[in-house]
Amino acid sequence: MSTLNTSKLDFLAHTLRQIVAGQIEPRRQRLVRQALSRLDSDAYGYCQECGIDIPYRDLEQQPERRCCSRCESNKER
Ligand SMILES: [Zn+2]
Repeated sequence: MSTLNTSKLDFLAHTLRQIVAGQIEPRRQRLVRQALSRLDSDAYGYCQECGIDIPYRDLEQQPERRCCSRCESNKER
């Protein structure tokens, strides 16, 4: 069960839609669209690598993220 409540999800969905509507690089546009489809399928907010809940403060800064910060930094190595 995600720790994200409805108002947090609404805020993130709104932010994502604003990003999609704006002028952003195609790569980010794709990530944001993927995040929106995860919102529809209730898979949003979980790390795609290890499955934990991604902290809300991380989603707030980067709502299209797919992984928790630990998996992100593992990938960069
Ligand atoms: Zn992870």
